[in-house]
Amino acid sequence: MNIIRSVSEMQAAAAAVKAAGRRIALVPTMGALHEGHVALIRAARTKGAAVAVSIYVNPAQFAPTEDFKTYPRNLEADAALCRREEVDVIFAPTDDEMYRADASTWVEESLLARRLEGERRPHFFRGVCTVVAKLFHICQPDVAVFGQKDFQQLRVVQRLVRDLNFPVEILPVPTVRDADGLALSSRNQYLDGLERAQASVLYKALNVAQDLFNQGETNAHRLGAAMLRTIEFAPAARTDYAEIVDGETLAPLHEAKRGDVALVAAYIGKTRLIDNLVL
Ligand code: AMP
Repeated sequence: MNIIRSVSEMQAAAAAVKAAGRRIALVPTMGALHEGHVALIRAARTKGAAVAVSIYVNPAQFAPTEDFKTYPRNLEADAALCRREEVDVIFAPTDDEMYRADASTWVEESLLARRLEGERRPHFFRGVCTVVAKLFHICQPDVAVFGQKDFQQLRVVQRLVRDLNFPVEILPVPTVRDADGLALSSRNQYLDGLERAQASVLYKALNVAQDLFNQGETNAHRLGAAMLRTIEFAPAARTDYAEIVDGETLAPLHEAKRGDVALVAAYIGKTRLIDNLVL
């Protein structure tokens, strides 16, 4: 397995794979890899393509107040996991390789990215769209794998690929969870013991909404309020949002229907976590 650190080398390696008649499946990550990322890598493998995993903590998607500096980084452990999963190449560029000091071109999705995460983290999706576009140009994937854990991100990336005609198939992968339902996330490392015990409240809230919906409650406001109450029951939790939105457009709703999605974001102590469940 190769670890490539420069853009030009990665582009050359991708061109060589293509010239040999092989397809490329890309798994974009920020590293600190866990079983959720493993599920993405295994999904990529099913495509019979060469599997590339990008590991890059993208500064463009963090606000100055966020955790860019402290975000967990451990390339050695990540490389060991990738080797075990028979990944063909890791692309782990430096910041200098990815962004020139005077970079002035950005990619923006202006509809799906506006609400929810985009409302609370104004630069987030511009950073995500820009880095995804760059990774696609650099790694030349035929398939790119994204987790449903970041549901809004998945929908924004699908829209980006559609609107800008990237010749890339987006392969979504269901959320991988711990035994108590907490969605795996690199940021779970920030939680102390007490917080970790309470963090499953996000998933509990989603299930409360699902159960109410199954019992016939379709009022989106009441479903949101029930999720909020469930989250706030945990002393360490503070809800950022708890909403039911359209599963395709992410538009807010009055009446929920099957295929719509429950989305929650909450602080557990100082750590902000997100989760979702399709009704
Ligand atoms: P990240 O490294 O957190 O930026 O995530 C990289 C990719 O892995 C994204 O497509 C995420 O949606 C996906 N991912 C992260 N956590 C999970 C999980 N628990 N289950 C499935 N996919 C995940």
